[in-house]
Order: sequence, then structure tokens, then C-alpha cells
Amino acid sequence: MTDPAKRIATLREEIQKHDRLYYVEASPIISDQEYDRLMQELIDLEKAHPELVTPDSPTQRVGGAPIKGFRTVEHAVPMMSIDNTYDEGAVRDFDRRVREVLGNKHPEYVLEPKIDGIAVSLRYEGGELVLAATRGDGRRGDDITENAKTIRSIPLKLRGELSAGSVVEIRGEIFMPNAVFAHINQELVARGEEPLKNPRNATAGTLKQLDPKVTASRKLAFFAHGLGEVSPEPPDDYWQWLEQLRKWGVPSTPHAMLAKNIDEVIAAIEKFARVRPTLPFLTDGMVVKVRSLAQRERLGTTSKSPRWVIAFKYPAEQVPTILRDVTWQVGKGGTLTPVAELEPVLVAGTTVKRASLHNIEQIQRLDIHIGDTVILEKAGEVIPYIVRVVPESRPADAVAITPPEKCPSCQQQVEFESPFVRCINPECPAQLKERIRWFCSRNQMNIERLGESLVDQLVDAGLVKTFADIFRLKLEDLLSLERMATKSASNVLESIQAARSRPLDRLLAGLGIRHVGNTTARDLANHFGSLEALQNATIEQLDEVEGIDVVVATAIHDFFRSPAGRHAVEELRKVGIDPKVEIKAVSGNAPFAGQTIVVTGTLKSYSRTEIEELIVRLGGKASGSVSKKTSFVVAGENAGSKLQKATELGVPVIDEEEFTRRVGGASKQDSGSLF
Ligand SMILES: [Zn+2]
Repeated sequence: MTDPAKRIATLREEIQKHDRLYYVEASPIISDQEYDRLMQELIDLEKAHPELVTPDSPTQRVGGAPIKGFRTVEHAVPMMSIDNTYDEGAVRDFDRRVREVLGNKHPEYVLEPKIDGIAVSLRYEGGELVLAATRGDGRRGDDITENAKTIRSIPLKLRGELSAGSVVEIRGEIFMPNAVFAHINQELVARGEEPLKNPRNATAGTLKQLDPKVTASRKLAFFAHGLGEVSPEPPDDYWQWLEQLRKWGVPSTPHAMLAKNIDEVIAAIEKFARVRPTLPFLTDGMVVKVRSLAQRERLGTTSKSPRWVIAFKYPAEQVPTILRDVTWQVGKGGTLTPVAELEPVLVAGTTVKRASLHNIEQIQRLDIHIGDTVILEKAGEVIPYIVRVVPESRPADAVAITPPEKCPSCQQQVEFESPFVRCINPECPAQLKERIRWFCSRNQMNIERLGESLVDQLVDAGLVKTFADIFRLKLEDLLSLERMATKSASNVLESIQAARSRPLDRLLAGLGIRHVGNTTARDLANHFGSLEALQNATIEQLDEVEGIDVVVATAIHDFFRSPAGRHAVEELRKVGIDPKVEIKAVSGNAPFAGQTIVVTGTLKSYSRTEIEELIVRLGGKASGSVSKKTSFVVAGENAGSKLQKATELGVPVIDEEEFTRRVGGASKQDSGSLF
């Protein structure tokens, strides 16, 4: 047996090395799987030896306990904004002003791509990350340390020897790589939710998460592009500072360039314009900085921004193309969305063939005709959209766009509910495909192996007409489909089998009832306890549930009384899908029936959401504040004012171990199938 402490140290070093190779050198030498294996071994070892866990261990990146809010912190050196321009002439003016101050000496410049993300300051003391803060108003920002720690390209510890008293403040940009952004949006769209607008908003939203685990799941990245307080003194040369960052294991912005004079600066700006669209992250310009820190000092700042830096911004690329046709895409609720079918064209690095026109109102607003020349832009340079038409280019045979009278999928008459067009045929195959996809997606029944194209195949082959049909699929059914091997077919069946034990709220959310998302589904499940009770509920009874208004109540009522809704539920029952929830009001058997429980401090085995869900599932009420009515408090590590209040009021306090004992083995993972 090797010494666990030694092995842990080796693993941490290995993982840090691979992080550096991946993010700083951009030349990984092991596969993601091998990396995950190293990480898993470290996690297991630390679990077995909790006394060996340190805050700078790579395992700490998975995200700690949720926090209540963000503390405001003051920046040691203000984070100023940068002047920017769309004009090359203004960059030359900037150089002239710089030379005037420096006595007509030609300064050298460093150019760095301007990353479209959120500016942050990382403070390392004695080489260890102690604080990450957003820019905020430049003087004060939010402490986002817990979230920043989950970002793999931010070292928790700088490489090399740094003296105990050393301070290094690294400024840079946290951003969301394009691939991550696209992946998240695919998932959101699959769930029928609004896609994120652009990677910058997505990054801001992710950093504002109070639960670092959510941030960890979003896979943000970081590039350094500056410095704040640094002691001992940094080198006078910014180019050398970038080199120093590399040595510390901190990634700086790729494609940084040196320019000896303003002509080289302009040439570099023009050169980068061609590289920019091919990068895996968004940039919106080029930042031009004086190289020497001593010269920067002499140049000083205005009230708003430093005089030694300017950002040249590239105008958003607008590309003309021709609208060939408009197709109408059927959603799961029957809404028909117009989609522009375009002459394929390259916009900001990718070929665009289609763009959503959202609804008939948008078509009218743009006054768009088939045959028109349209101007295409990418919103945040990711989602293509039509900005306007070029009216003078309209051909004589241009065709006005009118919504279809028949559904393109089932050919049934559609209904107009301005500005929307709806197919109301409950048996529409296009709607069915969307509904089945929704039912199978992650937040509903989570049938992972039933992907988009497989759903298409199953519906087209007539093998799946209702949700229940999914559970009737046999191996030979799947093998009758094109490109389906025995191994993957049995994987699909296994994945379907696993979904049989999903709790009532997941099933309810999966049915695709209008206005019923996961939260409402959970409220309904806990209140009514079964599909049968829900089917029999009147609008008044539904309206009584907290958080459900009469509009939602009517939608739920109508669904369960509609022939399609009744059929869906009956069929599910026939294949044995009829989960029940024990209702706390009816039964006194649930461990926490009638009890109000407050959780405080940091827990080892549960996130805040997990433990609260468990309390609710076991009949209790999870409350946020301690009062005389509180049945008991579960106190984790570092419990503060709530624990104190409980003690003052004489409310019983238990620790996490005692809680786990009372739960009686019901873990967070299987809590759904308790009943
Ligand atoms: Zn239809």
C-alpha cells in the first residue's frame, strides 16, 4: 500500500500539470477520460481521508455549498474601463497623444484580442488564490471566489516558489467558449426554454449563480490580460509579464502580438480580423496597450480610463443573402414558427442557411418577402438573425409571406391566435415528435438514449404513438430500424427501463401540459399524490394549490379532461407507469410529517437543494428562518446566526449525521422512488 498522503500529492500535481498543458500550453497529452480517471482517484482518496483535503486541491473545483449572496469587495487598484473606437484613425490619434506625453518617443505596443466576457480580478497571496472579484463599478465588485474556483483554467495555486508575503493580482476575462454556449442552448431549446442570448450574458448569469455546482457544470474559461496590485514589483515590461503568467500556469489571451510602431499596430488589427472568426471563443476587438509599465505610469489616467490603452472594435459583420423560402416548424404545443430558408452564406465564420423569424408580427415588422435580399447578422455573433431587408433589391416576382392554412406536418386546418399560428390536431406527427422528445429529456423522464433522430425514426415507423408506447418497445422493434445495432438497442431499452422509476413530478412535467414546468409539477405531485387524483380534481381544487392560479388550473383541468390527455394517462397506466406520492396531510407515517425544518451551515453529503427536496419528500417543510414553530434545525459546519437563534429559542438542533440517521437510509439519489 502506498502512503495515501503521498499519492494524493502526486495526483494533485499530475492534475495541475494537465490543466496547465490544456489551458496554458493548449497541448494536452492525455485524453479527457484519462484526466477524469485521475480526478476520480483523487476524489475517492480524499473521501477516505477527509483530513487530507486542502482548499487548493483540484477536487474543490466541483463547487462547494451554495452561498446566500455576494459580498462586496474593494479593489486594491481600481479596475478602469477602456476607451474604444471603431475607427482606425482614432487609433492613430491615440498613438499621437501617447507620443506627445512621452516626448515624441515611439513606444512599443502589445496587442491582445478583446474577449467578450466578464472582467475579473484574481488575488493570489503567497501564491494561493484568496479572492476573485468582478469589476463592478471599478472600485468595488462582487466576491465570486467560490464560483471562480470551479473554473479549471484559473489556477488555485500559482506554480513555482512565491514568498509568503507576496501579492499578485491578475486581471482577466471569464468567458464561455462557443462550444459550451452552443451545447447549453441546444439543451435549453430541447427543453422548450428560451435560448441564452449570447455567451457574454451566459457568462454573467453563470457567475451570478449562488450554487457553485451550477457554475461548475457550465464550464467557463479564463484568460489573463492585465495586473493589479503586485508585490514584489513586477517587471517593467508587459510582454515579460505575459511570459511570467505562463510560468505561473495562468493562461493569457492567445494571439497576443508585439508592435514596434503604429503602422505595425494597424497591420496587426487587420491581420487579426481574418483570424477572429475561426477562434473557439468570441472576440469583439483588439486591445492596444503601451508595452512599458514605466511609460504607462507617465501617461496616467483620465477620470474614466487609462491613457495608455485603447480598444479597436470590429463592426458586427452584416452579410446580405437571399430569402429563398419560409418554412413553418411545428412545436410540441402545436405553435408554428416561421423559419427563413436562406441562400447559404458565411457569417462570422460559419455557414448560415436558416434563421428564425419568430412569428407573423416579426415578418410584418420587417416587411419581408420571399425573394428579398436580406441583411443577416449574428446576435452576439452566435445566433443568426435577419436585421432588415434591402427594399431596392426586391424582385418583381417577390412573394408576400402568409401563414399556412394547413399544418405542414399533418395537413389539418390551423388556428390563428395572433401573433401565433397553431396546429390543434392532437395526433399531429410533428407535435408528437416534439412531445416525445420533451418527455424523454433530462429534466423530465431523462431517457438519455432516446435521442432526437431516434425519436423521429420511432414515430415515422409508427412504433411510438403515445408516451406509453416507449415502454412497450422490444428489442426486435428497435432492430427493425436503420443503423441500429444490438448493443445500442439494448442500451436504449436499459435507459427506458431506468425511467420507469421516475417520480410523479418528473412524469407530470413530461406530459407537456401548458404552463406546467418542473416547479408546478412538484407542487401538484405533492398536493394530489397521484395521476388519478389529478384527473378528478376540479378547477377550484387545482386553484387551491399554492403557486397555481386559475389560468394554470384551467390548463391542467382541460388537459386531464381532454380525450388526448385521458388517453395518454390511461395508456401509461396500462404499461405500469403510475407513480404515487405519499401526501403528508393524509399520512402521519412519513418521517418528517408535519414538521418544519431549517437547514444551516455547510453540509458534507448534500447540497442545499438536495436536502430541502429530501425534507419535502419525507413529508416535512423546509423553511429558511428559525422561529418558535421550527421543529428542529440541521446544523452543518460554520453555522451562524440561525444556529444561535435556535439555541436562544430552545429549538432542538441536530447535526448532519443525526439527520442521515433519521432519514433512515433514504439518500438524495433514490429519494424519488421512496414510495
Ligand atoms: Zn399538425
